[in-house]
Amino acid sequence: MKVLVVNSGSSSIKYQLFDMTDESVLAKGLVERIGISDSIINHYPSDREPVITHQDIPNHRVGIKLMMDALLHSEYGVIKYVSEISAVGHRVVHAGEKFSGSVLLTDEVMDALKECVELAPLHNPPNILGIEVCKELMPGVPQMGVFDTAFHQTIPECAYLYGIPYKFYKKYKVRRYGFHGTSHKFVAQRAAKILEKSLEELKIITCHLGNGSSITAVKNGVSVDTSLGFGTVAGIIMGTRCGDLDPAIIPFLMDKEKLTVEGINKIIYKESGFLGLSEGISSDKRDLRERANQGDERAIRTISAFTYGIKKYIGAYAAAMGGVDAIVFTAGIGENSKETRAEVCEGLEFLGVKIDPEKNKVRAKEAIISSNDSKVKAMVIPTNEELMIAKDTAEISANL
Ligand code: AMP
Repeated sequence: MKVLVVNSGSSSIKYQLFDMTDESVLAKGLVERIGISDSIINHYPSDREPVITHQDIPNHRVGIKLMMDALLHSEYGVIKYVSEISAVGHRVVHAGEKFSGSVLLTDEVMDALKECVELAPLHNPPNILGIEVCKELMPGVPQMGVFDTAFHQTIPECAYLYGIPYKFYKKYKVRRYGFHGTSHKFVAQRAAKILEKSLEELKIITCHLGNGSSITAVKNGVSVDTSLGFGTVAGIIMGTRCGDLDPAIIPFLMDKEKLTVEGINKIIYKESGFLGLSEGISSDKRDLRERANQGDERAIRTISAFTYGIKKYIGAYAAAMGGVDAIVFTAGIGENSKETRAEVCEGLEFLGVKIDPEKNKVRAKEAIISSNDSKVKAMVIPTNEELMIAKDTAEISANL
């Protein structure tokens, strides 16, 4: 069975075609700069050289058509007929409270996703557009939706409600949703496999640390709390997003700086986090580390605030779950930065976390990095959201 995974963003489309018999990737690619100048399609067949094509890509329809052309191409394609694709799995950012798992994208589901547009105005419209174009170009091929929010729908009311008048929950569905759900679910499942335990008996804290970051408490296989909330800006500080903030700061800054809603949003989503706190050094963790190693105080304080935030969430989630068996690090920073992992775990010995510096030298591969006598297992597990989407898609497809 071949499953195509599509992640349709505002100006890009990422895709991967999986052969689910062995979960191998037949081809993957990235259509970039849709609707902007210098559009480009990067196609990587797994058994041949990459093909990079520069071409005008005015909209998603053209972008998805080019993706299909690349997959079917006589020289660098990997399939002969569209009908070889058994199903398509789409990454959708926000499904509100409507879905707690992946589903077949029927007309009713599409209507429900459109209702969620106001909750994710930047993400859901291009996701929906990608689905609509795929449905059109691949008639008869089942299309599934895999939602970033779905894994967190198990979070209990006490953790998803904010302490504002309840009417705003009823009226506007203002609550914690959480994101990166596909990643948290994937690494939690892998952790259980590696530890040779059942996921249902484990308390795991998954730290997805990338350009966007979130931490999740996974108890008995389900998400019970997560650091991102109503939007994608809360929790620990990120590349350009501020993380947790006293709400009083928002009206204060709006008043002082004469900011519009757009203006304050720009600050908290685009100008804060690593970039803002370091006074513009970079939103990229590697640059900050380099500058911190040279003694740059701005980089040092930014990294300290990042690490401190993660540590605090680990403590909170251990308390929320009544203990912790494993802490998992994933995504760009979590998978690659031994310094971050060591700094986060330093001082957590009281909780039973003991990092082995030698084992921690690992990069981007599955490993247990805690010492043999560590009560809590610290682990590195590369995330693979595409594979998780493909697996969900194949499972739904098999049951149609
Ligand atoms: P992601 O959003 O998962 O692609 O992660 C992007 C983040 O991972 C950026 O802040 C990068 O600086 C960081 N990153 C990637 N490689 C490394 C590395 N070798 N060491 C430290 N951070 C890294």
